[in-house]
Amino acid sequence: MDYERQPYRRCGRSGLLLPAVSLGLWHNFGEGKTLESQRAILHRALDLGITHFDLADRYGPPIGAAESALGRILPRSLRDEVVITTKGSNPMWDGPYGKGNSRKHLLATLDRSLARLGLDYVDIFYLHREDPDTPLEEQVATLDHMVRTGRALYVGVSNFSPESTAEAARLLRGLGTPLLVHQPPYSLLDRRIEESLLGVLEREGVGCVVYSPLAQGLLTDRYLDGIPADSRAAEGRFLTPDRVTPQVLTFVRTLAELAESRGQTVAQLALAWALRDPRVTSVLVGASSPEQLEANVAAVDRLDFTSEELAAIDHAAKE
Ligand code: NDP
Repeated sequence: MDYERQPYRRCGRSGLLLPAVSLGLWHNFGEGKTLESQRAILHRALDLGITHFDLADRYGPPIGAAESALGRILPRSLRDEVVITTKGSNPMWDGPYGKGNSRKHLLATLDRSLARLGLDYVDIFYLHREDPDTPLEEQVATLDHMVRTGRALYVGVSNFSPESTAEAARLLRGLGTPLLVHQPPYSLLDRRIEESLLGVLEREGVGCVVYSPLAQGLLTDRYLDGIPADSRAAEGRFLTPDRVTPQVLTFVRTLAELAESRGQTVAQLALAWALRDPRVTSVLVGASSPEQLEANVAAVDRLDFTSEELAAIDHAAKE
């Protein structure tokens, strides 16, 4: 592992450092991908100083495949050099206990995740989304229990509103298990967290690990000449071709010019832009090849922006 390749940033007011660029296993670690291609991406990630791997119980397909892949590929000897996360809430099995944020479901889904990962504990367990039908007190008490029983070292929430995040942070503090991190979407095409979530996180001392910073590949050169057959938009499950609009392509072309003047690619500019705010701890990227990952980590070579560059980006975003 090259620990000099990228900076490690403090996650909120905690003791935990995370790499500026982290790897998510939502895509590219399920069926249709060979173990060799998965191993190549994970090994390159480790080479690049990526110490943080983000998963969820559902990631695949099929459900659980990404956790099983990581369990097979990650050398046991590296356990103390990496941060492994998982999440629970989304539908996993049939019946009333197969989804949601009840204590009954969450403890069962985490135990199944640990079995697939071949681990005794995850570093971070996240509530994947809000569950308005379960009292927040029950949800946070379950997170606290996971930490006290050694199943998780830290806890986080994902896709929570600013209000629910503040309430969860308050309740968790009372239990003595601080809320470590929030995981929201953030990119040049989705800036909602700037409205109030980032302010809440700063106030509460909670870190922010942002997902889909490349808008699933839209903020790269991938779609400038059409939709490649091996791309996520061609697959069409989570990124549908109708999202590749003329307006998005015009924005990406403008960004590409700006990026070139900075000696970067569009993807690198998009990642550096998301990291410009110190409240953002890490950007969680996906990669369908080791080359994409290597190119993305190189974003850290130029993280500074002039006020003119930021104004030009804001202007292009409003066009
Ligand atoms: P990105 O926005 O980084 O999109 C990744 C995709 O963009 C890749 O699969 C690839 O698509 C394309 N890409 C990446 N790098 C390049 C490059 N250099 N040049 C061209 N194309 C590139 O993130 P994801 O949407 O994959 O999300 C990242 C992680 O965030 C997930 O794995 C997951 O861990 C987490 N996440 C969490 C969610 C939550 O609810 N908490 C929801 C969604 C994600 P292609 O396959 O076409 O090559």
